[in-house]
Amino acid sequence: MKQELILREKMDVVSQLAASVAHEVRNPMTSVRGFMQLMQNERLTEKQDMYINISIEELDRAQGIINQYLDLAKPQTNPHETIDLTSVIHQSINVMQSYAVLNSIHIQHEVEPSLEIVGFKLEIQQVLINIIKNAIEAIKSEGEIRISAAKQSNGIISILIEDNGAGMTEDQIKKLGSPYYSTKEKGTGLGLTLCHHIVKQMGGHIIIKSELNKGTCFNIKLPSGT
Ligand code: ADP
Ligand code: MG
Repeated sequence: MKQELILREKMDVVSQLAASVAHEVRNPMTSVRGFMQLMQNERLTEKQDMYINISIEELDRAQGIINQYLDLAKPQTNPHETIDLTSVIHQSINVMQSYAVLNSIHIQHEVEPSLEIVGFKLEIQQVLINIIKNAIEAIKSEGEIRISAAKQSNGIISILIEDNGAGMTEDQIKKLGSPYYSTKEKGTGLGLTLCHHIVKQMGGHIIIKSELNKGTCFNIKLPSGT
């Protein structure tokens, strides 16, 4: 028992340290990005312009990874705010719409009006964006994502995000949510870890069903706020 406690304390120190390092590293990165942008205003050869574009993209990617770490290390507080889930779902779909269109993917949605939950607005939006992004990346190009949300008779809200993409084997499903598990060349494997963490904090859970080469369905279940 004592061992477990010490271990947890150590973990806290490590995650606090990681968070402060991440925080410190952000500032110089922002200034490098600023100078890169200034350089873009100069007269450049095509190659130089391409190198700077890639540098900025990669900086943004590093920034994204740091933000994911910071989100994971955030201190936990109890959810208190009542959220208009229906509009958060619509907003999340809007955010991802251009990425979907770029990959010739159609997002179909059917969301019940006036769904409410108690939780964290930005966090639940991040969960939805992460899962929709994964769905788009599983399809790669041309396909369909279906999103629906409804309150069940037992008061639980169920949000379904289905894709007809690559799907997963049973082995792959088992590994989901473990930090750093990713099958993508540029993946972080932190997206779903964060999703599980956030949904659990709001008293819910995620059920995943998938079939290789057929598609995947993420079912986010959350207690209704009303
Ligand atoms: P990342 O997207 O950075 O790889 P995630 O934690 O978001 O990390 O996802 C982990 C892995 O789970 C992905 O690399 C992919 O192999 C698998 N995965 C997640 N969502 C889907 C999906 N909708 N269809 C197929 N595989 C998926
Ligand atoms: Mg992801």
